[in-house]
Amino acid sequence: MRKFLYVVLLALFLGLGSCAEAAVLEGPWHYWETNETENGGVNVPELVRENSADWPLYDMEKRPPLSGNYQHILLTVKVSAQEPQKDVLLFLTTKQAVRMWLGDELFFSRGKFYPQRYDEGSQPYMVALPKFEGETQLIVEMYSNSPTHLGWFGMFSVDTEQMQMARFFYSDIPLVLAIPVGLAIIFIMVLYYRFNPQGWRRLYGYIILFMVVFCLWLFCISNVKSLFWDYPRVWWYSLSILGYILPLTANLIPREMLKDKPYARMDLVLWANGLLFVVAMAGEIMGLHTMNNLMSLYYPMLAVGEGAVVYWCVRAAREGDILCRSVLLPIVVFTLLGIIDGVAGHFYLLPWHVYLTPLGIYAFLHFVVAILREQVRHEEKLLRKTAGLEHKAALMQKKSETDALTGCWNRSKFKELLAGAIAGARKSGQPFGMLMLDIDFFKKINDTYGHDTGDAVLRAFATLVRKHLAQEHDCIRWGGEEFLILTAFEEQSELLALAEKIREQVSAVPLAGHKITCSIGATLWQTENDTTDTLLKRADDALYQAKKSGRNCVIFGE
Ligand code: GH3
Ligand code: MG
Ligand code: MG
Repeated sequence: MRKFLYVVLLALFLGLGSCAEAAVLEGPWHYWETNETENGGVNVPELVRENSADWPLYDMEKRPPLSGNYQHILLTVKVSAQEPQKDVLLFLTTKQAVRMWLGDELFFSRGKFYPQRYDEGSQPYMVALPKFEGETQLIVEMYSNSPTHLGWFGMFSVDTEQMQMARFFYSDIPLVLAIPVGLAIIFIMVLYYRFNPQGWRRLYGYIILFMVVFCLWLFCISNVKSLFWDYPRVWWYSLSILGYILPLTANLIPREMLKDKPYARMDLVLWANGLLFVVAMAGEIMGLHTMNNLMSLYYPMLAVGEGAVVYWCVRAAREGDILCRSVLLPIVVFTLLGIIDGVAGHFYLLPWHVYLTPLGIYAFLHFVVAILREQVRHEEKLLRKTAGLEHKAALMQKKSETDALTGCWNRSKFKELLAGAIAGARKSGQPFGMLMLDIDFFKKINDTYGHDTGDAVLRAFATLVRKHLAQEHDCIRWGGEEFLILTAFEEQSELLALAEKIREQVSAVPLAGHKITCSIGATLWQTENDTTDTLLKRADDALYQAKKSGRNCVIFGE
């Protein structure tokens, strides 16, 4: 962060350096307000040479207050050819026609010199000085109907071409620092807009809109733009229109964030922004030059409007709104920098020409990061909620498939288990075994010790049986005191060994304090034609045989 600050300060310093005077200008400047010009048949270089010695001094950086009675001004300064390599003139001009002579040679002309409204925007120029010997006079004639702009130059200097190129680009450094950040924010927000419909989609949309307008505005205030298309008037109108639209699009963001707060009258602010823009445009179309004139209303309105937005955001932040808290920084920074740039630029209070507003994008980045952080937090919360619901659903599912008393699978789950086992067996051709167990004389336990004791015996019986089953075997409560076991055994001997072991253990260990026995019918899935019904019938018949054979035994059903 500190490193970044150094870079910015260095950039500003270098930008400020662009107002340093180059060596070939001998100074001082003299000026004369007049309406006698070449158009009136007067030879300007001759007029200047004969009279300029008596003209008042002119301070380039702090123009003397002009009377406002004239639309022309003549400026002149002595130049020497001491350092011939310094032969490039760099300057920035706005809203005035300019002509320049070196001695008698006219070497630069921009705009028309007759009574008219002159509206061309700010434009940097790099002009090669004609070759000359010894000492001569640089003469500048300017025409403007605006007393605020007449005679104003920015970055005026004579230097080597290399240095002038550097100066030309230095003042764009804040933009070079800001535009990639703006584009990155647009890119991230487009991703979020596309893939996050549940999130703050509208907010993302407004941020994209604001960033697009901001980046276009950044391009319009750059020096580089004139390398792409040298058309000051178009750039000036684009810059003005974007300047009016900027607060409008920016305020859509807090409007979206404050939409549930009854005290926040964001619509009022937006209407004011919109109205000013419409009036400025309408007046401009009608030829009233309101785009420029209404700027004196624009900045006070910006201060008041954004002041109100800040107040509402502070209130919302106090109520715990994290986004409203993090949007405060960019609003304050953008507003302050905007007002500094605007007032300095509009009234030419500062001799240098470096915009500070672009750097506000870093404050805005802070807000974007806060949004992304909130979005991630929101998603984590959703994820936790989903995991909780999934767990609940799994528990419910388990509950619907198991028997409450014994914890074995219930009858409805049995159908699914057996269907799966039959399908698997048909596919692989490998048989599986099934046991049907029934406690002997269970009714007696109920009758003698009561139903609760019967329940305890059933639970103990199920626990004991399941203790002898492998992971892949399933135990099902078929009903009452009857149980089914599905095994993966392919051999009759294995199946019968398991049945025998269970039978033996049941008869050996008292269950819930009662000695009981059980009878078991066993069968194997044998042919393709075996179905649920045929399997159950065989097991049931075998069990019946076991009961008939005196109980406490295992019978295999062929
Ligand atoms: P055998 O099978 O040896 O022929 O005799 P049995 O007495 O075990 O046979 P029967 O099927 O006539 O009796 C089963 C008894 O199981 C009837 C019923 O009261 C009891 N029973 C069924 N479900 C439950 C239950 O959930 N809890 C309790 N405590 N008893 C149950
Ligand atoms: Mg029974
Ligand atoms: Mg029984």
